[in-house]
Amino acid sequence: MSEHAIAQLIEKTEALQSGHFQLASGLHASRFFRCIKLLRYPQAAEIIFAEIARRFANENIDYVLGANEAGSILAFEVAKHLGVEVAIAREKSGTYALIEGFAFPVGARVLVVDDITTTGGTAKQLLAIARQADAEPVGVGLVATKGLFNVDLSCRTEVLISLQGMDAMSPEDCTLCQQQIPLNT
Ligand SMILES: [Zn+2]
Repeated sequence: MSEHAIAQLIEKTEALQSGHFQLASGLHASRFFRCIKLLRYPQAAEIIFAEIARRFANENIDYVLGANEAGSILAFEVAKHLGVEVAIAREKSGTYALIEGFAFPVGARVLVVDDITTTGGTAKQLLAIARQADAEPVGVGLVATKGLFNVDLSCRTEVLISLQGMDAMSPEDCTLCQQQIPLNT
């Protein structure tokens, strides 16, 4: 599977939006990758699930861990491809924790998946969940990053597509705020 195929899928599903957005980090941006738009089409999105699974097929993964709406769907589908269990985390006042009913046995090999990241913040928290359970974080599979991704997550990191032209501005310096353009919701 090529980056080109994913780029086409993103375009077809209008997952890359233009406007005025507030990112999870609190920064503002004029472009926003809304992975859930793409996940509306499970069959078309198969290329993404299959590709993440393929890249970690030889890592003896025991669990695939994801969070939030898009991350949960990714984790579920990638786990299905790998024939392993899934684990879902949820954010509560800024901290991620496993939803009740999910747990890692000691030594379990965990793959973290996420839709897009700027700083790797969510992935870092999910890796920490695995470490706290004395499980072994083996890798991170990301659908997209904004440009080059230089964050060291201390484990194998696979990125399916690097999106160009993604900006991020502090609200104080945001040119869209200065033009009084309302935030997209
Ligand atoms: Zn703004």
